[in-house]
Amino acid sequence: MTPSQNLNLAILPDSVDPRKQRAPVPEQTYPLQYLKGVGPARAKALAKMGILVNADLAASFPRAWEDRRFLHAIRRAPMGEKLALRGRVRLADFSTTRKNLGMASAALEDPTGTIEAVWFKKQNPRYDVFASLRQALQPGRWIAVLGSIEWGPRGRQIRVEEMTACSGEDGDLLGDERFHFNRIVPRYTVSQEASERLLRTLIGRVLSSTAGQLPDLIPEWLRRRDSLADKSWALEKIHFPDTLVEKEKAREALAFEEFLVLETALGLLRAQVKKNPKPHRYELKRRLLTPFREGLGFDFTNAQKRVIREVFEDMMSPYPMNRLLQGDVGSGKTLVALSAMLLAVENGGQAVMMAPTEILAEQHALTVSRFLQKLPVRSCLITGRQTPAQRRACLQEIAAGRMDLVIGTHALIQKPVQFARLMTTVVDEQHRFGVEHRSLLRQKGASPDVLVMTATPIPRTLALTLYGDLDVSVVDELPPGRAPIATFPVSEQEAYSRILQAVSQGHQAYVVFPLVIESDKVELKAAVQEATTLRRSVFNHQRVGLLHGQMPAKEKEIIMRQFRQGELDILIATSIIEVGIDVPNATVMAIQHAERFGLSTLHQLRGRVGRGRNPSTCLLIADTRTEEARRRMEIMAQIADGFRLSEEDLLLRGPGEVMGVQQHGLPAFKVGHLIEDARLIQKARAAAQEILKQDPGLRRPDHRPLQQAVRREYAAKWLLGATG
Ligand code: ADP
Ligand code: MG
Repeated sequence: MTPSQNLNLAILPDSVDPRKQRAPVPEQTYPLQYLKGVGPARAKALAKMGILVNADLAASFPRAWEDRRFLHAIRRAPMGEKLALRGRVRLADFSTTRKNLGMASAALEDPTGTIEAVWFKKQNPRYDVFASLRQALQPGRWIAVLGSIEWGPRGRQIRVEEMTACSGEDGDLLGDERFHFNRIVPRYTVSQEASERLLRTLIGRVLSSTAGQLPDLIPEWLRRRDSLADKSWALEKIHFPDTLVEKEKAREALAFEEFLVLETALGLLRAQVKKNPKPHRYELKRRLLTPFREGLGFDFTNAQKRVIREVFEDMMSPYPMNRLLQGDVGSGKTLVALSAMLLAVENGGQAVMMAPTEILAEQHALTVSRFLQKLPVRSCLITGRQTPAQRRACLQEIAAGRMDLVIGTHALIQKPVQFARLMTTVVDEQHRFGVEHRSLLRQKGASPDVLVMTATPIPRTLALTLYGDLDVSVVDELPPGRAPIATFPVSEQEAYSRILQAVSQGHQAYVVFPLVIESDKVELKAAVQEATTLRRSVFNHQRVGLLHGQMPAKEKEIIMRQFRQGELDILIATSIIEVGIDVPNATVMAIQHAERFGLSTLHQLRGRVGRGRNPSTCLLIADTRTEEARRRMEIMAQIADGFRLSEEDLLLRGPGEVMGVQQHGLPAFKVGHLIEDARLIQKARAAAQEILKQDPGLRRPDHRPLQQAVRREYAAKWLLGATG
């Protein structure tokens, strides 16, 4: 059996029934009802939180930790901050406040002094809300309380948030009491039905009985060689650490494990694409490529040349290419893609390019007709708005192999689109698509070569994580003669006068009303209204077009064409122009409400100007009353480089916002952090590669727990184990 067959068998889910995709559970696992203190009602409440078996308890990691060590004697406890105190009850009192709240108070004393502890609770006519407190607040008993110290009507008081009776001698905590006080205590996210105290108690109990028996995903050889923390130690200490340093060590150990599963899955995904030699071969014939290059009217940049070389090397290898092309806006990725597509056509194959919007697909079709005009290459455009007859004619040509290049939108991945001999697929602005779109397009051919492109530059570690199954090329150079885009905040008035000036010099301009959600009707209406006003007032002597996502496609196309051909001076648009639009004569962009948008979006928008030889300007019309908005506008003004901007963006907003991480099919990590744990991710990646090198199908007994975890978490989602 070859390693690849091995891999396939090992990772393939048992069945498509998701309930059966849980990996076999270790023998020490038992349902929660068998745990002391869990009856049917509690089991049900916990099940709603996804906690079904004992192992799920241990894996419910804290969201925070609280220092509840008794660090202060009563007399010396500082005011204001939340802290834990311990004292003996001297006398207790129960009353009702003027606002009809139930109030309990107790004088607590220790050898240094006395303080008043107070509780408030909404009363209930049907039962005594303080019943259990009456039990606990018996004079002479020790209790531990958590709260902040403030001034009350009778001097210093502590307003109690949580308490525990101390049943040992002189206030010692016994049994379960020890989970809640006199230590660093875990805080959990809980539901209405299951209290935090219950969860903490159950987790404490489970950890003291079965922690060591939870499956350890890190192979023993790796743990020993790299001196990694023990799993049972890490599990115990992430819940109940003795020090905060210990907690961080435990968290890192568990995060490493989490990343190891992810990186192993990514490694398998990559191996899966690469495992079968592709049926087609390429030879550099230059029949089309040379005339294409000579007809451009400019030279490729060095970065473009290098990247084209990398792409061609992949294509000429026996295994399918699976490459990500990253490059800042305007770096000339389209021509790299065209080169790859032409290599396919030179070799008698078909190539396809998918773009996220119709406007962009249409622009690509224009680029193709512009640069391939004199070449014997047949191309067509498939979008969602063709008439059925047009569509049918195109599809026939494609299926018969008479179309060499096909360009289109999502419409391309639909069933009826069939190719005769698809060899190369390109996905433009890949971050706008999900992982599954890429897979679906891939399935239109027999192991085709895949090139995905994005202008959303992301930091390297994040790229490794998000695109870990892809090889990465970077076009890190802009075509010569591009002047940097001067970016700065201005008033609306100034923005418009600058636009008028540019237009009077024969240039074109954009005014952008970015919509947070392109389909938001209310917001769109406001934008359209403002646009109309502008057209009638400030810009009433200019030729102004309006472009937004809800317009009929035909109209969009006409407006875009007019703008491209210089028949419009000003294009007022929503963020639908964010990707791809390429009109070199446009030199000014004004962005309305710039403060509402992330740096990456602003950078994408800004990339619509500065595409020719004339110096360009990006004017930010922003409400900078908040510190954060001011800071963001400053960063935009200072940083021109997309990679650096995306790093800033990540720091400001977190990865989910920036990238649409969910879209990429990544899990929400339980303890790991995509940005802060960059070093751990690198380490996990190296480890995963090493493991897969030794054991590509994860068949060895010591790799089985890891294999099961990968299968449980990623197999179905990523079509791991599926062929094609
Ligand atoms: P992006 O990487 O953002 O997709 P494009 O492929 O749209 O960028 O290219 C931006 C513009 O730069 C286009 O007008 C394209 O024709 C032009 N261009 C690409 N490569 C070069 C080059 N080497 N020299 C000059 N202009 C170039
Ligand atoms: Mg592009």
